[in-house]
Amino acid sequence: MAVVADLTVQINRIVPDSYVDGPGRRVAVFFQGCAIGCRGCQNRALWSHAGGEVVAVADLAARLLAECDKAGPSTSPFVKLRKHLRTGHRNITISGGEPFEQPAALAALTRRLKSAGAHLIVYTGNVYEALVQNPATAEALADIDILVDGPYIIGQDSSTMQYRGSRNQRPIDLAATRREGRVVTLDWDRPELIITHDGRILASGPLADVLAGWGLGEAVSGRRCGQTS
Ligand code: SF4
Repeated sequence: MAVVADLTVQINRIVPDSYVDGPGRRVAVFFQGCAIGCRGCQNRALWSHAGGEVVAVADLAARLLAECDKAGPSTSPFVKLRKHLRTGHRNITISGGEPFEQPAALAALTRRLKSAGAHLIVYTGNVYEALVQNPATAEALADIDILVDGPYIIGQDSSTMQYRGSRNQRPIDLAATRREGRVVTLDWDRPELIITHDGRILASGPLADVLAGWGLGEAVSGRRCGQTS
């Protein structure tokens, strides 16, 4: 793909430190605009295509990478034991809104970020099978590591799931999907224990009750993409 220097993208906000928009510590960017209109959507403020901020794709990529690289040494005594977790990361999540409603900008952004060594998660209200068959959206899939697909369906909501809202939404490993020629999904719902960079302990599943009983850590029933913590 030729990189268009002045391509722009409409975004709502950047969240520099997120533990809810996919596993691990991540920088998240929320695209502005979504025409899907799921009932019960928690991001209605992002539906309008008129709001937010218009930025050059090149500038946005630079801002996201700078936020990753800014992630300083951990203040947690636990995390300090792990050398590879002591400094910045390049874990980036693109959410919305609907990122695939700006497909050229999304493709250009993911290309730049992937070239810089980022691990990319993208959330979409569309399903993978439709995106991969549409030439306008298929290009952007090439550089994404994990695609979380499908609309939010209020009747399939479950508070025990991690990082998404309803059971139909699949965390798809795109490299494995391409390799095996079938949709390969990841298990994001195993009990987790996360020690954040500032020393908080986040626990889900049975671990949450045990730690909470000992007065340690925060019990988390399920982290939802787009939440603020
Ligand atoms: S796709 Fe996402 S942002 Fe769009 S309406 Fe559905 S839940 Fe909301």
